[in-house]
Amino acid sequence: SNIGNRAQYLTEAILKLEERVGKLIETSPTLETEPWGVQNTQPNYLNQIVLLETNLSPLDLLICTQAIENELGRTAKGTYESRTIDLDILYYDELIINLPALTIPHASAHLRSFILDNMLQIAPDLVHPKEKKTQTELAKLMKQ
Ligand code: ADP
Ligand code: MG
Repeated sequence: SNIGNRAQYLTEAILKLEERVGKLIETSPTLETEPWGVQNTQPNYLNQIVLLETNLSPLDLLICTQAIENELGRTAKGTYESRTIDLDILYYDELIINLPALTIPHASAHLRSFILDNMLQIAPDLVHPKEKKTQTELAKLMKQ
Protein backbone atom coordinates (compact mmCIF):
# COMPACT_ATOMS: atom_id res chain seq x y z
CA SER A 1 0.00 0.00 0.00
CA ASN A 2 1.17 3.55 -0.59
CA ILE A 3 -1.92 5.69 -0.13
CA GLY A 4 -3.92 6.61 2.97
CA ASN A 5 -3.76 4.48 6.10
CA ARG A 6 -1.36 1.94 4.65
CA ALA A 7 -1.19 -0.32 7.70
CA GLN A 8 -4.98 -0.41 7.86
CA TYR A 9 -5.20 -1.43 4.18
CA LEU A 10 -2.75 -4.26 4.81
CA THR A 11 -4.74 -5.44 7.83
CA GLU A 12 -8.03 -5.35 5.89
CA ALA A 13 -6.50 -7.18 2.94
CA ILE A 14 -5.21 -9.94 5.22
CA LEU A 15 -8.64 -10.31 6.87
CA LYS A 16 -10.25 -10.71 3.46
CA LEU A 17 -7.58 -13.20 2.37
CA GLU A 18 -8.28 -15.28 5.48
CA GLU A 19 -12.02 -15.22 4.77
CA ARG A 20 -11.79 -16.19 1.12
CA VAL A 21 -8.45 -17.78 0.36
CA GLY A 22 -7.68 -19.99 3.33
CA LYS A 23 -5.71 -20.43 6.50
CA LEU A 24 -3.13 -17.80 7.37
CA ILE A 25 0.13 -19.59 8.21
CA GLU A 26 2.70 -16.79 8.50
CA THR A 27 2.79 -12.99 8.34
CA SER A 28 5.99 -11.04 7.76
CA PRO A 29 6.71 -7.74 9.47
CA THR A 30 5.85 -4.65 7.43
CA LEU A 31 8.71 -3.06 5.54
CA GLU A 32 8.71 0.50 4.22
CA THR A 33 10.31 1.17 0.84
CA GLU A 34 10.59 3.95 -1.67
CA PRO A 35 8.49 3.44 -4.81
CA TRP A 36 10.24 1.20 -7.30
CA GLY A 37 11.15 2.80 -10.63
CA VAL A 38 9.59 6.18 -9.87
CA GLN A 39 11.51 7.66 -6.92
CA ASN A 40 10.40 10.96 -5.39
CA THR A 41 7.08 11.18 -7.22
CA GLN A 42 5.06 8.96 -4.88
CA PRO A 43 4.63 8.21 -1.20
CA ASN A 44 6.59 5.28 0.24
CA TYR A 45 5.15 1.80 0.16
CA LEU A 46 4.40 -0.37 3.14
CA ASN A 47 5.11 -4.00 2.14
CA GLN A 48 4.12 -7.25 3.77
CA ILE A 49 4.17 -10.91 2.73
CA VAL A 50 1.75 -13.56 3.95
CA LEU A 51 1.82 -17.32 3.63
CA LEU A 52 -1.58 -18.94 3.14
CA GLU A 53 -2.92 -22.44 2.62
CA THR A 54 -5.57 -22.57 -0.08
CA ASN A 55 -7.78 -24.84 -2.12
CA LEU A 56 -8.12 -22.21 -4.83
CA SER A 57 -6.34 -22.80 -8.14
CA PRO A 58 -3.72 -20.18 -9.07
CA LEU A 59 -6.09 -18.42 -11.48
CA ASP A 60 -8.97 -18.47 -8.98
CA LEU A 61 -6.56 -17.05 -6.42
CA LEU A 62 -5.67 -14.22 -8.83
CA ILE A 63 -9.37 -13.47 -9.41
CA CYS A 64 -9.83 -13.37 -5.64
CA THR A 65 -6.86 -11.07 -4.98
CA GLN A 66 -7.99 -8.74 -7.77
CA ALA A 67 -11.49 -8.59 -6.29
CA ILE A 68 -10.01 -7.67 -2.90
CA GLU A 69 -7.87 -4.96 -4.55
CA ASN A 70 -11.02 -3.50 -6.11
CA GLU A 71 -12.98 -3.66 -2.85
CA LEU A 72 -10.21 -1.84 -1.01
CA GLY A 73 -10.51 0.98 -3.46
CA ARG A 74 -7.65 0.40 -5.82
CA THR A 75 -8.33 2.55 -8.86
CA ALA A 76 -4.90 3.15 -10.40
CA LYS A 77 -4.29 0.89 -13.37
CA GLY A 78 -0.70 1.70 -14.25
CA THR A 79 2.02 -0.56 -12.92
CA TYR A 80 3.92 2.20 -11.16
CA GLU A 81 0.95 4.29 -9.99
CA SER A 82 0.07 4.75 -6.34
CA ARG A 83 -2.39 2.25 -4.94
CA THR A 84 -4.33 1.61 -1.76
CA ILE A 85 -3.37 -2.02 -2.11
CA ASP A 86 -1.41 -4.17 -4.57
CA LEU A 87 -1.78 -7.89 -3.99
CA ASP A 88 0.80 -9.94 -5.86
CA ILE A 89 1.16 -13.71 -5.84
CA LEU A 90 4.85 -14.42 -5.28
CA TYR A 91 4.86 -18.23 -5.17
CA TYR A 92 2.34 -21.07 -5.39
CA ASP A 93 3.83 -24.35 -4.16
CA GLU A 94 6.67 -25.19 -6.55
CA LEU A 95 4.61 -24.26 -9.62
CA ILE A 96 5.97 -22.41 -12.63
CA ILE A 97 3.21 -20.63 -14.56
CA ASN A 98 3.72 -18.43 -17.63
CA LEU A 99 0.34 -17.07 -18.70
CA PRO A 100 -0.34 -13.55 -20.00
CA ALA A 101 -2.33 -12.78 -16.85
CA LEU A 102 -0.27 -14.74 -14.36
CA THR A 103 3.44 -15.30 -13.90
CA ILE A 104 4.46 -17.55 -11.02
CA PRO A 105 6.90 -17.16 -9.37
CA HIS A 106 6.26 -13.41 -9.60
CA ALA A 107 8.78 -11.91 -12.04
CA SER A 108 10.30 -9.73 -9.29
CA ALA A 109 10.30 -12.32 -6.51
CA HIS A 110 14.07 -12.91 -6.68
CA LEU A 111 15.04 -9.37 -7.74
CA ARG A 112 13.79 -6.98 -5.06
CA SER A 113 15.50 -6.82 -1.71
CA PHE A 114 12.33 -5.83 0.18
CA ILE A 115 10.69 -9.05 -1.03
CA LEU A 116 13.72 -11.17 -0.14
CA ASP A 117 14.15 -9.49 3.25
CA ASN A 118 10.54 -10.30 4.14
CA MET A 119 10.72 -13.81 2.67
CA LEU A 120 13.71 -14.47 4.95
CA GLN A 121 11.42 -13.73 7.89
CA ILE A 122 8.72 -16.24 7.01
CA ALA A 123 10.18 -18.86 4.64
CA PRO A 124 13.99 -18.73 4.41
CA ASP A 125 14.23 -22.26 3.00
CA LEU A 126 11.55 -21.84 0.33
CA VAL A 127 13.10 -22.69 -3.04
CA HIS A 128 12.51 -20.47 -6.07
CA PRO A 129 11.54 -23.14 -8.63
CA LYS A 130 13.09 -21.34 -11.61
CA GLU A 131 16.25 -20.03 -9.94
CA LYS A 132 16.53 -23.25 -7.93
CA LYS A 133 17.79 -21.33 -4.92
CA THR A 134 16.46 -20.80 -1.42
CA GLN A 135 15.43 -17.34 -0.22
CA THR A 136 18.58 -17.28 1.91
CA GLU A 137 20.74 -17.97 -1.15
CA LEU A 138 18.87 -15.40 -3.26
CA ALA A 139 19.28 -12.76 -0.55
CA LYS A 140 23.03 -13.42 -0.37
CA LEU A 141 23.33 -13.01 -4.16
CA MET A 142 21.41 -9.74 -3.93
CA LYS A 143 23.89 -8.33 -1.40
CA GLN A 144 27.01 -9.22 -3.44
P1 ADP B 1 2.30 -4.60 -10.49
O1 ADP B 1 1.86 -5.56 -9.44
O2 ADP B 1 3.33 -5.18 -11.43
O3 ADP B 1 2.74 -3.29 -9.92
P2 ADP B 1 -0.47 -4.63 -11.32
O4 ADP B 1 -0.81 -4.97 -9.90
O5 ADP B 1 -1.23 -3.54 -11.99
O6 ADP B 1 1.07 -4.27 -11.44
O7 ADP B 1 -0.59 -5.98 -12.14
C1 ADP B 1 -0.66 -6.00 -13.53
C2 ADP B 1 -1.06 -7.39 -14.00
O8 ADP B 1 -0.10 -8.35 -13.57
C3 ADP B 1 -2.36 -7.95 -13.45
O9 ADP B 1 -3.43 -7.60 -14.26
C4 ADP B 1 -2.13 -9.48 -13.43
O10 ADP B 1 -2.90 -10.15 -14.41
C5 ADP B 1 -0.68 -9.61 -13.78
N1 ADP B 1 0.07 -10.60 -13.01
C6 ADP B 1 0.97 -11.47 -13.58
N2 ADP B 1 1.51 -12.24 -12.66
C7 ADP B 1 0.98 -11.88 -11.46
C8 ADP B 1 1.17 -12.35 -10.12
N3 ADP B 1 2.04 -13.33 -9.84
N4 ADP B 1 0.46 -11.76 -9.13
C9 ADP B 1 -0.41 -10.75 -9.42
N5 ADP B 1 -0.64 -10.27 -10.67
C10 ADP B 1 0.05 -10.82 -11.69
MG1 MG C 1 0.08 -6.27 -8.66
